[in-house]
Amino acid sequence: MDYQSTRGPLFASDAEAILRGIAADGGLFVDPSLAQRPFDWRRCLTLSALEMQSMILSHLLPGIPDMDALVRRAYAGKFETEDLTPLVEVGGDSVLELFRGPTAAFKDVALSMLPQLVAAAKEQRGDTSETVVLTATSGDTGKAALEGFHDVPGTRIFVFYPHGGVSAVQRAQMVTQEGANVTVCAVRGNFDDCQTAVKRAFALLSGDERLRARRQELTSANSINIGRLAPQLVYYFLAYARLLERGRIRCGDPADYVVPTGNFGDILAGWMAKQLGLPVGKLVCASNANRVLTDFFDTGVYDRRRDFFKTDSPSMDILVSSNLERLLFYVSGGDTALVRRCMEELSREGFYRFPDALTDRLREEFCAYCCTDADGAEEIGRLWREEGYLCDPHTAVAVRAAREYKKDRVSHAPLVILSTASPYKFPAAVLAAIGGGAEGDEFAEIDALARLTGVPVPKGLSALRGRAERHRDVIGVEDVVPYIQNTLSEE
Ligand SMILES: *Cc1c(COP(=O)(O)O)cnc(C)c1O
Repeated sequence: MDYQSTRGPLFASDAEAILRGIAADGGLFVDPSLAQRPFDWRRCLTLSALEMQSMILSHLLPGIPDMDALVRRAYAGKFETEDLTPLVEVGGDSVLELFRGPTAAFKDVALSMLPQLVAAAKEQRGDTSETVVLTATSGDTGKAALEGFHDVPGTRIFVFYPHGGVSAVQRAQMVTQEGANVTVCAVRGNFDDCQTAVKRAFALLSGDERLRARRQELTSANSINIGRLAPQLVYYFLAYARLLERGRIRCGDPADYVVPTGNFGDILAGWMAKQLGLPVGKLVCASNANRVLTDFFDTGVYDRRRDFFKTDSPSMDILVSSNLERLLFYVSGGDTALVRRCMEELSREGFYRFPDALTDRLREEFCAYCCTDADGAEEIGRLWREEGYLCDPHTAVAVRAAREYKKDRVSHAPLVILSTASPYKFPAAVLAAIGGGAEGDEFAEIDALARLTGVPVPKGLSALRGRAERHRDVIGVEDVVPYIQNTLSEE
């Protein structure tokens, strides 16, 4: 089975697609036969979480051998619960907790698996090079990538974060990272500077003779890689299986899912699960004040020419949602010329208009809502007061969308709200929303939140205090490329 580019007739095996990340024409790799190949979804629902993940990944990435072992290596003992992503009942709806992994954010589900897929893809292709992962992070992705890649044979990872630009907890998570193959470095600049420096490193070092001589290949861990998307379908199945077990739904009846959305990977995984047969009703796309997707589903026009807002839900502060491109491919029946035209217009003009007939088709499966930080804070406060459930500011955006969606909809399908971060990752905003406060740094806020609510602090966060700082380098933006070169040539 071949993957193909969303923008034209470029094909790759699943292993190649994982190793390349992005197609040579700038498109994203998709499986054009996703909805056609038979998948026994009913059997899948009877399996344990890890078996379920293995069955789904074997179907999506059939060229990767030994999936059971890879899945065990990725998850066993690393998540707080056997279930990976527990489903909890909150006020008549269900909240799917995606943050029970090592870094307390939902990116763990995929970034625990990606390194295993990369290692297996290399083995399958007889590729003995060293994979060098370069990551710029505004906080969460860096730590989740470090957790996934540390000590994975044949790989090494660099993470660059803005000096003074991440929270105290995020910094502590990264600079205490252990592992012989990891490098973490602060860059004097903001996140955009970091990202630009890393992009320049890719451009300058991809053809670098010294790297080639040492058989080092650069890659990125960001969410356009199919190896990061594929591991995300499983939790839609897990949620449905729990609803069945609890008698909340009859097998075959749809459940609706509300998804706090940034780069559109999380919600697209739900749509892909539906293509495998899972009875998914509506997918509700929840955005913060950066409402580019809400406007897109309303009007069919994707327009990034607008102000960028820094919000309390920073992982959703995105104006170009990369994974939407995959949905455009599928809903247009694989019209690569149309997708290419839209993406070219987006980069050239800053917007595109998707054909009306196709936008109508999207609206049959998706709807979209957005809210402000104040709306989100209100939801955190209300959920805590009325249900005793503490949620983070990203999840709060989805909780708000769920409330509005329920006013608008006609169906009574069970509603699953995806929760993407532990409230302890954003203690200041959560404390403020429930009427608390704290003097001091973020660790003091975590303590105050724990005292006030009694909700347990995730192990990975409480263990940070007092752990030795191993990565103290701070460099200028201009130094990123030589820093990588020097570090790579040290051995
Ligand atoms: C990345 C992230 C999101 C957005 O997920 P996408 O797949 O980018 O849409 C939402 N919440 C949190 C906490 C995240 O880290």
